[in-house]
Amino acid sequence: MKLEYLQKMDRIIRTVGSRDPDEILACMGFIYIDPGENLSGFITKRKNTVYYGVNKKFSPQQYAFGSFHEAFHGICGHLNTPDFLQNGAHADTFRIIHAVARTEREANIGAADTVIDTESFLEMVGYDSADVQAYTQSTESFERAVEDYRRHYVIAVANGSPETRIRRMEAYQSELSRMCAELQEQAQDILNSGTCLSVPEIAREYGVPEHVVHLKYEAVAIRKYKVPSLELPTFDKVFGGW
Ligand SMILES: [Zn+2]
Repeated sequence: MKLEYLQKMDRIIRTVGSRDPDEILACMGFIYIDPGENLSGFITKRKNTVYYGVNKKFSPQQYAFGSFHEAFHGICGHLNTPDFLQNGAHADTFRIIHAVARTEREANIGAADTVIDTESFLEMVGYDSADVQAYTQSTESFERAVEDYRRHYVIAVANGSPETRIRRMEAYQSELSRMCAELQEQAQDILNSGTCLSVPEIAREYGVPEHVVHLKYEAVAIRKYKVPSLELPTFDKVFGGW
């Protein structure tokens, strides 16, 4: 997903003056066709005109997400990708949480980025707060330390290790374990203080499922904001399998 695609939508929103899905897609020149009862959504192109549909039975949030998903198929250039319009049209369900196809992931990140506006999202995750910034820095140094550990671990394993080295590695690992516990406490403090809302809270706030909030986290990372997730993996997950 390229930043320029998200910025293109920013410009369209500015032109339209709202995030109304019908107005935004109309502004892009996309023509709405009712997909009928059984189809969630689709997009197709005939002689340079783009036609799309999203089921009107959806909730307003779902309808908006679906419409923006189709909008991003256009913005990201998917309509010109070979095989995308295999059977003449691309059909969507919007129900697949972990879309694997590049086109679907991009359309979902773009849709999440549009249904949740960046400014209020950053406010909800406490982006400007000193606590969150300090936490971001601690997370980064933790991640660097883990990388470092892994590098040393690989060397230690490759060379067959003298006992002193193994003991150093053990000490290193318990130091990392301590850092991880501290980070979790820091994250909990931030959540308790209300400076930052948790993923379920943000999802409730916008009336979207939690995976849409995770997609928004991906979108703000593409926008180059460093927003740490306060849901840290547990220590054994960091070292999965060791
Ligand atoms: Zn799609």
